[in-house]
This record gives sequence, structure tokens and C-alpha cells, in this order.
Amino acid sequence: MSYASSSSTGVASLQEFWLDILRKIEPKIQRSQFITWFKGTALLGCEDRTLVVGLPLPMSLNWHLEHYRGLTLEIARELDPSIEQVVYKVDVGLKDDPSRTTDLLQHFPEQKKRKVAGKQEVKLAEGIVSKILSPRYTLESFIVGASNRLAYAACQAVAGQPGGRYNPLFLYGGVGLGKTHLLQATGNAILHNMPKSTVVYTTTEDFTNQVIEAIQHQKMEQFRRRYRMVDVLIIDDVQFLANKERTQEEFFHTFNALYEEHKQIIVAADRPPQELQLEDRLTSRFERGMIADVSTPEYETRLAILVEKAKEYQLFIDMTVLQFIAEHANKNVRELEGILMQAVAQYELEQRMPSVKSIADIMRKLNKDPHAEAEFVGFDVAPRRQSTFQDVLEAVSRYYSVSVQDMIGQSRVREILIPRQIAMYLLKKYVRMSHVRVGEVFSGRDHTTVMNAYGKIEGKLQNDPQLLREMRSLEKELDFV
Ligand code: ADP
Ligand code: MG
Repeated sequence: MSYASSSSTGVASLQEFWLDILRKIEPKIQRSQFITWFKGTALLGCEDRTLVVGLPLPMSLNWHLEHYRGLTLEIARELDPSIEQVVYKVDVGLKDDPSRTTDLLQHFPEQKKRKVAGKQEVKLAEGIVSKILSPRYTLESFIVGASNRLAYAACQAVAGQPGGRYNPLFLYGGVGLGKTHLLQATGNAILHNMPKSTVVYTTTEDFTNQVIEAIQHQKMEQFRRRYRMVDVLIIDDVQFLANKERTQEEFFHTFNALYEEHKQIIVAADRPPQELQLEDRLTSRFERGMIADVSTPEYETRLAILVEKAKEYQLFIDMTVLQFIAEHANKNVRELEGILMQAVAQYELEQRMPSVKSIADIMRKLNKDPHAEAEFVGFDVAPRRQSTFQDVLEAVSRYYSVSVQDMIGQSRVREILIPRQIAMYLLKKYVRMSHVRVGEVFSGRDHTTVMNAYGKIEGKLQNDPQLLREMRSLEKELDFV
């Protein structure tokens, strides 16, 4: 159909034509640019071989003339070859009239970028490939305790002076204890200090695949040359080198070449070098450097990690609950993280504040080891711990069907006011929290607000039998009476 030549170019068909044009423009320019400059635009006319484009703002006229007129004409002509020119008309009315314009966000929703977990790589110079270092892993975000102090100090030293005294650096320890974190954090720190250096982080699996590929395509020379240009080589999980003679050999040569050039090598494994069952010459290379272990963090470190992670997830979680997790989840850090993640999910999806009970449930669910399960069975029958402030918030939230979020939030809606005051009252009276502390829980309200709430509820209980009944049943539910 020829739009320009048809005499009945009604508003609807103009809108349709404009949308067709936009659909073809959109892939050609950056999304942010597209939204910025085409929002509120419309096709005002299409007659005499001329496309009249309406712009909502005078300031966008020049920009369109300079940047988009050619493109718009080109695309319009693809759809209707009879069109010869594009002219613009500023029509400020378009700005406030969605019925005349196209809703770009609706018609052009943002495409979620697909993430390929664990496959993200960066190409460095000359075909050298490194896995992307996660910005989450930094030395600053690593919690140091007796269990990892040496490893951490070694990483810090290497970050300050790669290729210096601690070369190679060999980290070892069980799963989930922070080896990968430390490796990547060290890589990140080196890149921060020396942005021009070539830092390669790879796993033994990837390294092995590259060796195999190089052999297959007879590109061993190229492979060797490539790796020799690296300034810092970080290889994770070298326990998987066991029984891979050819990869070990290549690694050995790469290792020697880099070492001689004072380039830094950092590796991690799940056990010390002598237990890795590698060629002796490789084992002795590792042993010549710095070896540091990471072991299971002790209670205090676990607690410190939990406090940090809770902050990271922006999860407001009571210290007694964190202590409970630290006491009972003592295998590794990944386990701690797993529990917190679940607690975050519960909070986000169900507005459930983490409590000792909800955490015990999560732990029981996560724990697949039947022996460990026996250890947890006690929770349900264990004497009920004193209700914590989460218990109070949850109970009041359930009782009055208002969310904890709303209750501790800023809303001044009447339906929330009473439950909020009741929660404050219960916290003050039974959990024995100070006015100040209660205020903190409720989005940092002043302690006088808490005092007022307490006074109000106390007064009402004297002459409001309904409220009294409600209070009694809450007190009972919380084991306060
Ligand atoms: P590994 O490589 O030893 O199996 P990871 O480095 O993958 O363990 O650690 C598992 C998770 O625990 C990661 O998310 C990591 O950030 C976290 N983690 C481990 N130890 C610490 C620590 N000391 N401080 C902060 N986070 C840690
Ligand atoms: Mg790891």
C-alpha cells in the first residue's frame, strides 16, 4: 500500500505507518537514543510525497534534522518508494497526548540480555582469552579470620607486587572456603593497580580444552606464544590437572617461561601440592613458591561474613538470627550464603522477616545429608526461644493482615497505624527493647514516637475490650503470657 499517494490518510493509518517506520529505525540505533529522541513523536501527515513528522519539543528539531532525517527518509522510502522528503513540525501538544503518539516502551520492551553463566570471557591481546573477573570478588569484601589470614596476606602482597616474593602462589582448601574469591580478587586488584597488565584467569578445565584444541589444530606454537605474553596467570582448581599428562607438560613449560620472566602465577586447588598426584617436577615448582591454606572459618569469622553478606543483600536481619546461623552452619562459606539467599527470597516474596524458626526451616530444607539432619531435628521440639522482635513483627503482621514492610515503613494509613503501635508496644513490653532500638526497627523513628505509641496503646487497653482481646491473643501466640 502506498501511504503517500492514498488520499485518505487518516490518523489511525498514519499512526500505523509511523509504527512501521519506528520498527525499522529501532534496530539501527542505540535503544537509549531511540527512546530519547522518538518518544512523543508522531506522523502528522503524509501527502505530496512528503512525510510530516511531529516532534514534541523544539529542542529535538535540530537533532532530528542532523541525525535522523536521512535514516527516517531511507526507511520511509523502503516502505513507500513514492516518498521524497521528510519535514518536521514541532507540536508541543504531542507531549501530553498519548493517544496521538506511540508508546515506545510498550512496543519496544527492553530485551533482557541473555547471560551465559560461567562462559563469560574477555579477549585480551592476540587471542588471549580470560574469564571475566567478577567485580563482586574483591580483597576488600573478603572477611579475614584465623582460617584464611595467611592466604589473604599472600594475595595482598601479590596484588601489591606481582612477580615478587610470593611466586608462584598456591592456595588450597576445601570447597566453598573462598579460594576462587581470593584468586579473582587478586586479579582485580592487580588490574586496578596496573590497568595495562595482561591478567588471565582461567580454570584448569578451560586450560585443558585449549591445550587439546591447540594439539588438534596443530597450533601448539601459537598457544605457547600467546601464554607467554601474559603478565599474571591465574588458574583455578588445578587438582584437575591430575592424570592429564599433556596438559601438565604444557602447563609446566608455560609456568617456566613466565616464571623466568618474573611474571606472577597464582593457582588454587582443593589439596596441597604433594597430594595432587602431579608430575614431580610440577609439584616441586609449586613447592618452591608460597603455599597458603584456607580452612573452615571459625565462629567469629562466620558471623562477620554473615553480617557483611546481609548488608550486601540489604537484608535487615537480627543479630540473634545471624548468631544462630553462624552457630549451626559450620561447613563452609557457600553454605552460609545459601541460607542467606533463601532468607532474602522469603523476605522478598512473602515479606517474612528471617527468624530463628524460619532459618531453622531453611537449613533443614537445604540440608540433604541425613546425618546432619539428625542434628537439626531438635529445632522443632526445642524449648521455644524467647520470641524475638521478628516473631513479634510477623505475628502482628499475620494477625492484622498488613505486611511487615508496611508496618515498619513510612505509611500513615490508618489500618497500619494501630498494628504498628501494637508491635511497638509488644516489643517494648516483652522483648524489652529500648525505645531507641524499637525506633530503629521502624525505619529509624524517633524514640519519642515509640513512647507515644506505647502510652496510647496502654491507655486504649483500659477502655477498648476489642483491642484488649486482640492483645491477649497476640500475647498468647507469642508465648508472652
Ligand atoms: P572455593 O573457590 O574455595 O570453593 P569460593 O571462593 O567460590 O570458594 O567461595 C564461595 C562463596 O563464599 C563466594 O561467594 C565467596 O564470595 C564467599 N566467601 C568465601 N570466603 C569468604 C570470606 N572470607 N569473606 C567473604 N566471602 C567469602
Ligand atoms: Mg572455587
